[in-house]
Amino acid sequence: MTAAGRGRRGPGRESRLVVANWKMNKTRPEAIACRDALAGRLPDRADVEVAVAPPFPFLDDLADPEGRWALAAQNCSSESAGAFTGEVSAAMLASCGCRYVILGHSERRKYFGEAEAMLAAKLARARDAGLVPIFCVGETLAEREGGLTEEVLRRQVEALERDPREAPLVVAYEPVWAIGTGRNATAEQAEETIGRLRELVGARASLRVLYGGSVTPGNAAELAARPAISGFLVGGASLDPAGFSEICRLTGPTGPV
Ligand code: PEP
Repeated sequence: MTAAGRGRRGPGRESRLVVANWKMNKTRPEAIACRDALAGRLPDRADVEVAVAPPFPFLDDLADPEGRWALAAQNCSSESAGAFTGEVSAAMLASCGCRYVILGHSERRKYFGEAEAMLAAKLARARDAGLVPIFCVGETLAEREGGLTEEVLRRQVEALERDPREAPLVVAYEPVWAIGTGRNATAEQAEETIGRLRELVGARASLRVLYGGSVTPGNAAELAARPAISGFLVGGASLDPAGFSEICRLTGPTGPV
C-alpha cells in the first residue's frame, strides 16, 4: 500500500486514534468478513484515525487501499533479521504496509516474559523500520491497591527513555485489571493516570496517549470526553465491526458525529 493510500485518515496533530487489537482471534474468512463489514460501517471522521491490528497472517488481507484505516501489527521481533525461527521483524511489517506496532502489551509481558530490556530493543527495531510504536503500560490490581501505580508506570516508561529519537509515539495506558474483564477504569481514573503518564514520558514532538481496558460503545463517549485521552486501544469490542465502528463514532475530540 502506498503512503498516499494510507493517508485519508492521516495522523493529524489533533486527531484521535482508535486501534482494534484482534489478538489471536478469527480465521482468514472471518477476518475478511470483518474487514468488509468495517469498510461499510466506519464513520468518516477526519478527526479520528483508525488502525486495525489483525494477526500476522491476515495483514495483507486487512490493508485498506482507500486509507480508511491504518494497519498495525500486534508485536515485532527484538532482532533485525537472521536465524530467529518464528520471529517477524519490524522491517517486514513496514514492508507489508504497517504504520503501527503494538509493543509491551500486558499479555506479552505476562505470558511471554517480555520485560524492559527486550521492549527497549523492540522499540529501537520499530523506530529503525519507521513504524510508530503503540507502547502499552499499566498496573495490576494489587499494584493499584498498594499505591504502586506511579512507580510501576515510571519503571515501564524507562524503555522509552532509552530511545529519545524525535519520532511519533503512542503510549497506551492499559490497567491490567481492566483488560478483558468488563471492568473499565472510570473516566476520572483514566484521565488522572494518563495526565501523570504524560509527565513521566515528557515532552515529545508527537505523543498520543490512549486508554485501553474494556472499552465498549457503552463507555467510550464518557472516556472520550476527557481531553487527556487521545483515543482507545480496543480488544474484545473490536472483534465486532458494528461495535467498533460505534466506538470510533464516539471518540472524536468534538464529540460523537
Ligand atoms: C487490549 O487487549 O488491549 C484490551 C484493551 O482488551 P479489552 O478491550 O478486551 O479489555
